[in-house]
Amino acid sequence: MTIFDDLKMFLDESVQVTCPHCSHIRGQRSSNIRKNISCICPKCGHFFLPEEK
Ligand SMILES: [Zn+2]
Repeated sequence: MTIFDDLKMFLDESVQVTCPHCSHIRGQRSSNIRKNISCICPKCGHFFLPEEK
């Protein structure tokens, strides 16, 4: 493991999640996804858990 792998875990990088209801794509903090924090689609208001890819 390199130092960059360690840093990567703490980096708050933004990933794209797709709403399963309306397919709207939005940015989501990857740290939130790891914590399994639900997000709400800004377009249709659908409540869902993003999946990390
Ligand atoms: Zn939606």
